[in-house]
Amino acid sequence: MSESFWPDGYQACFNLSFDYDSNSALMWRAPHDIVAQSRGRFSPNVAIERILDMLDRMEIKATFFTPGWTIDQFTESCEEIISRGHEMGGHGYLHERLAEISQESQRGVFEKQKASFEKLGYKPEGFRAPYWLISDYTLGLIKEYGFKYDSDFMDSDMPYMLKQRGEDTGLVELPIEWLLDDWPHFETNRMNSKQVWDLWKPEWDGIHQLGRYFGLTCHPQCIGRISRLNMLEQLITDAKDKGDVWFATCKEVADWTRKKLA
Ligand SMILES: [Zn+2]
Repeated sequence: MSESFWPDGYQACFNLSFDYDSNSALMWRAPHDIVAQSRGRFSPNVAIERILDMLDRMEIKATFFTPGWTIDQFTESCEEIISRGHEMGGHGYLHERLAEISQESQRGVFEKQKASFEKLGYKPEGFRAPYWLISDYTLGLIKEYGFKYDSDFMDSDMPYMLKQRGEDTGLVELPIEWLLDDWPHFETNRMNSKQVWDLWKPEWDGIHQLGRYFGLTCHPQCIGRISRLNMLEQLITDAKDKGDVWFATCKEVADWTRKKLA
């Protein structure tokens, strides 16, 4: 067995993130679909508090990638996330498909995102694109606007220093994967919690065994339903029971990766 990558000899890393979209995507995509937007409001109305309580019970911290729209519309819930010790990261303004809009529009999104965080009084270090959809130009903006890590690529299950066409970017990459995203399973494929458990648990057990990085992407409006959140709590409980797992926010993983690899 090779030496652990993780701090203090931890066997593996469990990282939990939430994309706190609220109704931002629908405001952009379907502004007249008021019922669809009500699904997004389940997050500030119900799910965020429920998730924060679960995280307190489990005594772990998470990262909330949040569009500027959510910050502007549901400011109190964002203040609550911060005051309870969690991290926030950038996630566009209206959940835009960044790689598919003009460079000028992309820059506008980054400006608005920045203004929302400034109003909130919080400086995010990480960026995750809506739909994980970025172009070379977006990557430049991520650096230009002072982010220190990105979370959009799918080419590893370990964090790494991100190169862009062979050149160092200075950014840490925290890779993601559709398998470890609640949305396609619950919302697209309408799977039940037992079925999703059967996807996530063996993946997590294998990652733990190999000493790698388990980065789970959840959406409050999706995972915040009771049976689903209970399943997630059980997964965290099992991970805690292993006794050798590093539970870390995205920023903590990024800082550690930079220290090890940069
Ligand atoms: Zn999102």
